Order: sequence, then structure tokens, then C-alpha cells
Amino acid sequence: MNGSILALNAGSSSLKFRLYEVHGEQFSLILRGQFDGLNSNPHLAVKEASGKEIADLDLVLEDNMREDMLERIFEIIKPYTVNNPLRAVGHRILHGGARFSAPVLLDDAIVDYLETLVPMGPLHQPANLASVKLFRKIRPELPQIACFDTAFHVNIDPRAARYPIPRQYSDKGYRRYGFHGLSYTYIAGRLREISEYLSRKRSVVAHLGSGSSLCAMRNGKAVDTTMGMTPLGGLMMGTRSGTIDPGLVLALIETEGLSPADLKHMLYYDSGLVGVSGISPDLRVLLASDDPRAAQAVELFVFSATREIAAMAASMEGMDSLVFSAGIGENSALMRTMICDRLAWMGVTLDEEANAKNAAIISAPESRIEVRIIPTDEEVILAKQTALVIGEGAHGDAAA
Ligand code: ADP
Repeated sequence: MNGSILALNAGSSSLKFRLYEVHGEQFSLILRGQFDGLNSNPHLAVKEASGKEIADLDLVLEDNMREDMLERIFEIIKPYTVNNPLRAVGHRILHGGARFSAPVLLDDAIVDYLETLVPMGPLHQPANLASVKLFRKIRPELPQIACFDTAFHVNIDPRAARYPIPRQYSDKGYRRYGFHGLSYTYIAGRLREISEYLSRKRSVVAHLGSGSSLCAMRNGKAVDTTMGMTPLGGLMMGTRSGTIDPGLVLALIETEGLSPADLKHMLYYDSGLVGVSGISPDLRVLLASDDPRAAQAVELFVFSATREIAAMAASMEGMDSLVFSAGIGENSALMRTMICDRLAWMGVTLDEEANAKNAAIISAPESRIEVRIIPTDEEVILAKQTALVIGEGAHGDAAA
């Protein structure tokens, strides 16, 4: 395929976009942009791949802002698509349910199906679909491709997928799906590029960012993952609780009188690092603070991450490599040290000098488990999956 592809990642308060030029197998980043603060103080920042600033401005909060934003994106990319016409838009979609194991060209029926999955991703899925619907309205002729965060995990170990609840509910699709699949797809590809041998081994990949999860990976495929039916499960995160006792949820309803909406807000926005510290969901802020509650939040994050890394290893009956990725995993030598120190019993030994330099391999030569940093790139996977669908008419509808 030749031309360009727009990759979109729509959240509840931000909209990130990237423009790629595609020549055959080559994908070159042309522009990256981000609308932030969409519910309060909207701001737009756009840069060329070289770093040259194209826009950096505050916007006025208006009712039809989302539609205006999309029109604005088309204005911004226009000069860059004159010689490389825009072929399609790739949307990051949180949930593809049991039906989608690969990216798919969106049509009305598929959008309707994806709407039914909103309860399995109550914050992300509506924001993702809102931008799909607007794009389809303002550019109906442009192919819109859905790229799913769940797809990478569709074939996890059935014992990891099943919850021990009555069959009448599991039969309806209440199961573990797992997320961050675009990131894990990228990392599985990088592991293969680095070494076929490494890619066949048992790796635990730690995507540690504002949302965090782990993936137990072997032969480039997911075996288990920490997030569950929703992206609320698994590790403690910036603002999300991660896995907690379901009895605690019942007690909060019955004893504390929380409504479903209160609970949702508490578990998605007021828990995790910000809940424990009472200060911030941002790890950098907590690491810089001398408040004991900040230290407690950081220690709990490390404790939660190491416990779950060991659980992922157990799912694969062993572990040969550990990969750190995303904002925390790629940038915080201190967090990597704290996590790896607690894994010494498994045979993890860091090379502190390499770790301090954010090197590609950060384990010591004698370490039984190889530890790497692999910077993730979810957007290039969006662009590649989108090109694949429009290039080959491929689709991932297991029900079709
Ligand atoms: P997202 O893409 O989900 O918004 P990121 O992957 O960018 O999130 O990760 C954001 C998190 O990474 C924040 O908690 C931030 O504090 C943390 N982070 C980024 N750089 C550093 C660093 N140098 N040291 C510690 N934490 C960092």
C-alpha cells in the first residue's frame, strides 16, 4: 500500500493522533498531535516527526468541540497528504469482545456490536466509539478500521480466561479478556526481531504506565495477562485499584452505601497511587515527595507488580525473560531496581549501571532471567493493522 494513514487514540479527556506515510512495508511517522483537557481546558499540541512545532494553543470549550477537533485534524494533515493521499483511519478500540481477534473494517453492524461491550469498558469504550461515529459522519467515504486492545489475548490459556462463577454467566462472555494488546503486539514483534530464540522463550512483559498490566508471553503469543474482563483488574495503577476482593465491593455497597456510579468513580479514578498517597497518580510526583504516604503508595505498587510477575511466571511454569515498557517501565530506573530486587529469589540480577542508563539489556550476565527495556509503540501498530486491513481486505470477525 502507498499513501498515508491516520492513527487515532481517543480517551475520555484526550485525543491523540499520528499521521504515517506508508510505502509498501515502510511506515514513516510524519506528524504527532494531541488534544488534552477536553472536559476542562482544551489544548492542542502538534509536532512534525522531526520535533518541529506545528501548533501549541489553548482552545475554547464548546458543545460541538469533538466534531470541530476532527475537522481541525483534517486541516492540519492536509498539506502532508497532497502527495500521499489519506487511505484510512485506524482507531484504537478498547474492547472487541469474544468476536474480534484481529483488526476489522467498521460498518454499522460492527459499531452496534461494539456498543454492547460498553459495560466491559465503561470509561474507554464510549470515548473510542464516540470518535468512530463522528469520523464516520464527517468522512463516510474514508475506511475506518478498529484495532482492538483485547485481540492479542483472545487465545490465552482457557484457565486464565475463565472466572470461577456459575456457567450461566461465563457462557454469556463474562471472562478475562486482557488489554494493552497493541503494546504487547509491538513488543512481541520486537522480541522476534531481536532473536527468534528469545521470542520462543517465556517472557513476562510489564507495561507500566498510568494504566498498567502484565502479559505472560511465549512464542509471541499471550498465555495469561493481569487485566480482566475490564481494564480495572490486575495491577494497582495511577488511579485504578486493580484487583481487589469482590467482597470489598459488596461491603462498600451494603455498608458504606455507595451507588454503582460512586463505586465506578472510586475504583477507576480515586484509587491506585492517587488513592493510597492522597497526593497524585503521577509516579514522578510521588518519587519526588517526602510525604510517607507517597512512599507507601510506591511500595504498594512495587509489591503488587512483583506478586503479579510471579503469578504470570506460574502460569507459564517458569520465566526466562522480563521486559519493562511504557512510561514507568521505560523511564524509571528506581522502580525497575525496586521491582527486580524483590525478584532476586527467582534469579533476577540487575546490572545497575546498565539500568541507570536505560540500556536495552539491564540484567547482569549471571542473571538467570534476562531483563530488557523495550520502548513500546502502540500507534505504529495501529497504522500497520489499518494498512493490513485495507490492503488485504482482511478482517478478524471470528463469527463471520
Ligand atoms: P499513558 O500513555 O497511559 O498516559 P505512560 O505510559 O506515559 O501513560 O506512563 C505515565 C506514567 O509514567 C506516569 O505515572 C509517570 O509519572 C511515569 N513516568 C514517566 N517518566 C517517568 C520517570 N522518569 N520516572 C518515574 N516515572 C515516570
